[in-house]
Amino acid sequence: MQTKNDSLLQRPHLAIAGPCSAESREQLLETATLLAQSGRVDILRAGVWKPRTSPNTFEGAGDIALDWLCEARALTGLPVATEVATTAHVEKALRAGIDVVWIGARTTTNPFSTQEVAEALRGSNVTVLVKNPTTPDIGLWMGAVERLNRCGISDVGLIHRGFSLHNSTDNYRNPPLWQVALEAKERMPQLPMICDPSHICGNRHALQKVAQQAADLDYSGLMIECHPHPDEALSDKEQQITPQEAVELLSSIIWRNVATDSLRCKEELEQLRASIDRLDGEIFALIAQRMNVAEEIGRLKRVNNLTILQSGRWQEVVERVTHEAAQHGLSREFTSRILEAIHIESIERQNKIMQ
Ligand code: PEP
Ligand code: MN
Repeated sequence: MQTKNDSLLQRPHLAIAGPCSAESREQLLETATLLAQSGRVDILRAGVWKPRTSPNTFEGAGDIALDWLCEARALTGLPVATEVATTAHVEKALRAGIDVVWIGARTTTNPFSTQEVAEALRGSNVTVLVKNPTTPDIGLWMGAVERLNRCGISDVGLIHRGFSLHNSTDNYRNPPLWQVALEAKERMPQLPMICDPSHICGNRHALQKVAQQAADLDYSGLMIECHPHPDEALSDKEQQITPQEAVELLSSIIWRNVATDSLRCKEELEQLRASIDRLDGEIFALIAQRMNVAEEIGRLKRVNNLTILQSGRWQEVVERVTHEAAQHGLSREFTSRILEAIHIESIERQNKIMQ
């Protein structure tokens, strides 16, 4: 499934910005004007119908906001985007001529809803962005894309907005779980992946860091929420910044290249990569030797009727290796992940010997 050649999604370092929710005509026109003046923004976003986790919170201005979006586009020339979750939303958005629609995280989680949206979109050539589901389930994310494709919607992109986790211990509202998004990127390589630092962070402080991380991971673009008076926003106020700050953030991102023309750089890279290849070979030869020793221990345990798992001994290994690894500058978390993988394999080998 290819995106259209003339698709907005093909723009390098695509920048989508705008308020979480369209709250008033003035708010939207002011935001759009400031973003358009910068020349750095490709698409104006604003939620018209808001999917709220709890009732009794602002649920969007509704249909009237479609007129404000169209007026903002007429005023600034910026294409406009909004979220759709039902047949009625899609019909109204298409009738208004909205350029881009996105499927929100809560909707992607529900196959009945993604099917309904896909069917309502059939026959249109609107651009569709699919946010990751709230759970780290790549199958649901891919399923939504496939439903769209089956309804003939080909101009599709992905938005990574982080995942809802119970008691997340870090400072994110929706921890990014980069490895999940990167796997999705690998499994749907033809689709542009856009990062939404606003919903990942849920605050203003970490936006820049997350946005730069996405650029470093070769994402295609960014979606940033902004509001002329962020503290007064009716939804997601903690994570919104002013349009001027959004432009500054977008301009500060360093977009890196996947390749280079510099011969000198290519040569240096080649040498360093040769070292990596040699070291990988040595690391795995050593791990194989270690497994052979573990098997020998397994044979000794079998003959002498000893248990495979001797937790006191394993504790000693973990403590000694973690201490030595720290002296080489390796973190406790990294060392523990590697040791765990080695331990599981050793136990499996000894298990086989016992049987
Ligand atoms: C939004 O983009 O404002 C939104 C509701 O996002 P999400 O679906 O990622 O929660
Ligand atoms: Mn929001």
